[in-house]
Amino acid sequence: MKRTIRDIGDVKGKRVLVRCDFNVPLDNWGDILDDNRIMAAIPTISYLVERGARLILCSHLGRPKGYDKFLSLFPVAVCLMRQFPNKVKFCSKVTGTEVDNAISKMKDGEIILLENLRFDKGEEENNPEFVKKLCSMADIFVDDAFGTSHRKHASNYGVALKMPSAIGFLVEKELTVFEKAFKAPAHPFVAIFGGAKVSDKLNLINNVLNMADTIVIGGGMAYTFLQAIGQNIGNSIVEHDLVDDAQAILDKAKQKNIKIVLPIDHMVAVKDKKKAIKVKEIENGMTGLDIGPKTIKLFSAEIAGAKQIMWNGPMGKYEDPAFKEGTMKIAKAVAKADAYTIVGGGDSVSAVKLCGVSDKIDHLSTGGGASLKLMEGKILPAIEVIDSL
Ligand code: ADP
Ligand code: MG
Repeated sequence: MKRTIRDIGDVKGKRVLVRCDFNVPLDNWGDILDDNRIMAAIPTISYLVERGARLILCSHLGRPKGYDKFLSLFPVAVCLMRQFPNKVKFCSKVTGTEVDNAISKMKDGEIILLENLRFDKGEEENNPEFVKKLCSMADIFVDDAFGTSHRKHASNYGVALKMPSAIGFLVEKELTVFEKAFKAPAHPFVAIFGGAKVSDKLNLINNVLNMADTIVIGGGMAYTFLQAIGQNIGNSIVEHDLVDDAQAILDKAKQKNIKIVLPIDHMVAVKDKKKAIKVKEIENGMTGLDIGPKTIKLFSAEIAGAKQIMWNGPMGKYEDPAFKEGTMKIAKAVAKADAYTIVGGGDSVSAVKLCGVSDKIDHLSTGGGASLKLMEGKILPAIEVIDSL
């Protein structure tokens, strides 16, 4: 069990460095397009503020190469100022005298947001000097940036190795959800996979083969499986070098008595038109871009019978309104199921939001690459180094 902010004792007057994930989308004017990530950090920040800690918040934003005024965290500070009136100060530097002075003047319950960590190349290099500077700012370190926890950067891995540390509420939720879902899954456990590539999800599928009862495969990755069972797939997306891996998954599932459900029809693009055809009717020149109505029914029936569902990967090219139907219907079916539901992956979470059912999903794992690693059952290095209880 990792130490959480509930376990760190009295924080009154203590300087707490909190690694947040404020990597929010900005428009060309520097306005925040979606403040979800900031709002998601509020519970951890409020908890510490209410207990009189002095908070030093830090995050990266985008992929700057050195200083880049378009990737300043100032807009995030403005958003935080609205949430915590008269408590937030923005530092236009990541380290240095300005930061040290500001910290030395802090009162209990106040917040400082440092400038974008990645303006200093020491962040991604996990440079020891940079780590030292970050550590010197605080007494305790709290990691609440789940989305970067698969990376060994200075502000997560580096500082956690050097100072007393704990996880925030966001990281705690991600860990407990997957711990329970994988160690004590509710059955029937139906895992749904989609997206463009099998290669992205190979480890994930193999991990789920250890605990799922049914695996539903749609989206572009289904074509590699259909190829493996000898179906023609026309011009649909396929990874020829993974056909053997797909076959191995099918064999392993059979051995373990796990049901694998593949599409039986699809929406194909023929020149500029789309039509629904059975899987076996596909011809060269046709591209499968969504699951068809019969497959939606078939998949929905599996979903309806589940007690636990994990979904990763859209059922088709959902960004194109012409091919979003399958993904939207599956999102609705998952939302409606009387099951514990987890959706992970950047596009899958976007699709659930697009469908307007996010509040009906038990857990949306928003960590991108970190979510994928967790679903693969892998260790996240930046979490691994946090103090245990
Ligand atoms: P996530 O981000 O949820 O992990 P992925 O990134 O693996 O999901 O997959 C999403 C991508 O898969 C989307 O860009 C979508 O257009 C693409 N995709 C899904 N089905 C198909 C298909 N049949 N053909 C081509 N691309 C597809
Ligand atoms: Mg994606």
